[in-house]
Amino acid sequence: MTERDTQSITLELIDEAAMLQFGNRIAAAISWALDQTLGNVSPEKMAEPALLIALQGDLGAGKTTLSRGLLIGLGHVGAVKSPTYTLVEPYELEMGQVCHFDFYRLQDPEELEYMGFRDYLVESRLCLVEWPERGAGFLPEADMLIEIVQLHEGRKLTLSGQSEQAKKILSQLNRETTGVNSAD
Ligand code: ADP
Ligand code: MG
Repeated sequence: MTERDTQSITLELIDEAAMLQFGNRIAAAISWALDQTLGNVSPEKMAEPALLIALQGDLGAGKTTLSRGLLIGLGHVGAVKSPTYTLVEPYELEMGQVCHFDFYRLQDPEELEYMGFRDYLVESRLCLVEWPERGAGFLPEADMLIEIVQLHEGRKLTLSGQSEQAKKILSQLNRETTGVNSAD
């Protein structure tokens, strides 16, 4: 993946446990990057819209599994429900509000207006979005895109980031992940 000014990471995860564990690693890298931002305290930074992570892949690809690992890594204790029917599941975590969306059942991207998506984006620190393509035209460009493809065994993940924040997170992930191929 060599696109414009995109940084990307590709890796294979053999099973659900590996997926959950990688979600934990992403969580650690996000926490690290957000702490760095808060280190240069500026009120405008605090009021920035949420970091937006789009999760793309077929039904059963593992988007919810990865989100579960990520949310647990960010300190959530308990179940992580798939937001397929509710569209959104908000979580109050130590870092602030984190929202997990699933747009699979969205009929029209305009429904995001009615559900107050913009408010969620402003009030959250992080938003995870499954089926972002169904919100096309309304959903802002994601900081990070995670594409998941089913392999004969396991899954192939490609993470790409365009915003500065996302690139920072990917560099951090690269530093601590072994067996990962990365490209600029
Ligand atoms: P999605 O949200 O993309 O529809 P889910 O997260 O619900 O998919 O996962 C569907 C199935 O894929 C689950 O049974 C889960 O255990 C399995 N799974 C998740 N990650 C992996 C992986 N890396 N390798 C193999 N199976 C996986
Ligand atoms: Mg799902």
